[in-house]
Amino acid sequence: MSLLRFKMVDAAINHRAVEVTPPAGRPSDYFGSKVFNRDAMRKYLDGKTFEALTDTMEHGAPLTQELADKIAAGMKQWALEHGADHYTHWFQPLTGGTAEKHDGFAEPDKRGGVLEEFSGKLLVQQEPDASSFPSGGIRNTFEARGYSAWDPASPAFIVDTTLCIPTVFIAYTGEALDYKAPLLRALSAVDKAAVEVCRYFDKGVDKVFSYLGWEQEYFLVDESLCAVRPDLQLTGRTLMGHESAKNQQLEDHYFGAIPSRVLAFMKDLEYESLKLGIPVKTRHNEVAPNQFELAPVYEEVNLANDHNQLLMIIMDKVARRHNFRVLLHEKPFKGVNGSGKHCNWSLGTNTGVNLFGPGKTPSENLQFITFLVNVIAAVYKHNGLLKASIMSATNAHRLGANEAPPAIISTFLGAQVSAVLDKLEASRGEDAIRFDAKNLLRMSGISHIPTLMIDNTDRNRTSPFAFTGNRFEFRAVGSSANCAESMIMLNAALAEQLTIFKSRVDEAINAGIRKEQAIYEQVKHLIKECKAIRFDGNGYSDEWKDEAAARGLDCETSAPLTFDRYLDPATVEMFSSTGVYTKVELEARTEVKRETYTKKIQIEGRVLGDLAMNHIVPIASKYEAMLLDKVYKMSQLGMESRTDMDLIRRIQEHTAEIQTLTLEMTDARRLANKITDERQKALAYHDTVAQYFDRIRYHIDKLEEIIDDQLWTLPKYRELLFIR
Ligand code: ADP
Ligand code: MG
Repeated sequence: MSLLRFKMVDAAINHRAVEVTPPAGRPSDYFGSKVFNRDAMRKYLDGKTFEALTDTMEHGAPLTQELADKIAAGMKQWALEHGADHYTHWFQPLTGGTAEKHDGFAEPDKRGGVLEEFSGKLLVQQEPDASSFPSGGIRNTFEARGYSAWDPASPAFIVDTTLCIPTVFIAYTGEALDYKAPLLRALSAVDKAAVEVCRYFDKGVDKVFSYLGWEQEYFLVDESLCAVRPDLQLTGRTLMGHESAKNQQLEDHYFGAIPSRVLAFMKDLEYESLKLGIPVKTRHNEVAPNQFELAPVYEEVNLANDHNQLLMIIMDKVARRHNFRVLLHEKPFKGVNGSGKHCNWSLGTNTGVNLFGPGKTPSENLQFITFLVNVIAAVYKHNGLLKASIMSATNAHRLGANEAPPAIISTFLGAQVSAVLDKLEASRGEDAIRFDAKNLLRMSGISHIPTLMIDNTDRNRTSPFAFTGNRFEFRAVGSSANCAESMIMLNAALAEQLTIFKSRVDEAINAGIRKEQAIYEQVKHLIKECKAIRFDGNGYSDEWKDEAAARGLDCETSAPLTFDRYLDPATVEMFSSTGVYTKVELEARTEVKRETYTKKIQIEGRVLGDLAMNHIVPIASKYEAMLLDKVYKMSQLGMESRTDMDLIRRIQEHTAEIQTLTLEMTDARRLANKITDERQKALAYHDTVAQYFDRIRYHIDKLEEIIDDQLWTLPKYRELLFIR
């Protein structure tokens, strides 16, 4: 082991579990203690203000200036009493992550002292210097005006000593520059469309909520080891590294005992999360060594997503406290599983019915089947777009790689639900006409679902979009993603589909057909129409790729080409009919996706080039020189040195290949950089630059196997992947 590596490994071994002060009291005592939640509002706002704010939060009632001033005053007092000295509008720009600019509460009082200032105006709207956030050309830098505006549906919270106010971020001209604004639009679209359909079954429904429960996967590595891996530091993944002799073959990590250092980190993280009102619930090891998962109880999508964004930030902070680095990259290590963020999604009514859950009565079951089939139809129609929504330079490593969902969207329904749909599809029209609603349903087998569904062990881990008993689980989402993007697609696509469904059913009803009959016929029609998206087999198999292509599903694997789905006529139509995105906004987003892709590959290319030329090649040359010296001396003594000569030749070959390929890659990058069109540029980065990564890596990994361990300065997989 090289001296540098030895020092780092030694430091890693000596990083003992950090003592975590046990939280005072029970979770119920400190849950949400750093959130300006309803309890705090009730305490810090007068009765009338509280009522008015509740109305805004629940029904979107407009905020008056006077009201905003009163809320700001209460919020300020709460924040100051809870240790805050700064405030910030907290928003989710298209770069990923979150953005914040802190301002102090303290303002000079013009008499030599300071006063804590925070007005309704500052609460409701601000104009951050937005020129450096990507806008995809919407906002030219010279008129860099973007506004952040308060989202009262998501409560303010305190991180460290800063009051964070969740906001949307929009351009001066009204276009969304963030994830939250379109998410709110999509949620409102699905609410409206779903309520309309629910009213066929229950006139008491006047609101439909969309729910999200995310499962965050991540890796931990020791920070001292990470510090000497520039690739991990700068790109979040290892660009090289020979596989460890032992990794996940024994499957001994999954659900195994959690190492004490990690457990201390998890406890600390959970405590911090609970204080921020994030209802974290489950923690466990994942399949790969050093891989873990954290999942909360599901919440309304907007809040759940804010919580996930917040969690990713808190994770990083807490990890540093424990001498860890948290890796949210989708594929930090070759040869072991990547990380995803399963998004569990469902819709529920104000009357307490889960629309994706089978009910107890035939009517509830017809409603359930109606929603289920409409979801499948929406996913079928927009399967390419759905893939585009989760595609990125980082998630591309995970999609389509072996142990991961393929880069093809399909739905898995399980044997029972599939059987019900098949039965419905095969049922004959005349039967349907002869039976009344109740009998029709019984005949179709729907009334049996509640008993059948009790057994929920029917799971297919290889499906990117699976029905799991009372919700859909979108598994293809990447671990570093903002869930909003896939939630926007799903909810908007379903809103569009439900609206079409409703108009067709209404048409039939107007033509004199009974309501149940009209719904039944539309459902049957949809089942037939979207059969191609249903796939219950092994999604990882090669046969599926062929079959999916034959079925006409989107099988594109190139990230930049997949991004084109954002601008398909069907996409533009869906988003404009639901009011979620204008064409200009879609173009801007596509542009940002392309730009981000290019930049990530560009950075990886640079880091790989640097490491290859100033770490790997010099180390290899040094070892080669040592061997040459030995061989020369042996020859002086007339000794045989065939195997050493072989080794020298191999080192020489790999080194030469690395040098040649790295130069070629640099040239490819130079050419790509000259391209001004963002689409062409991203394609060039994908088709030329990125194609060198694995080829260069191959030779580096070969060298790692044969070079003296004492000379190798980069921590190896076997050191990175096992926390002691
Ligand atoms: P799994 O068995 O898939 O590992 P869990 O059963 O622990 O996962 O649940 C995963 C996530 O799904 C959790 O966040 C949970 O709250 C969420 N979830 C459960 N029911 C629903 C639902 N009806 N809608 C949305 N999310 C849900
Ligand atoms: Mg799951």
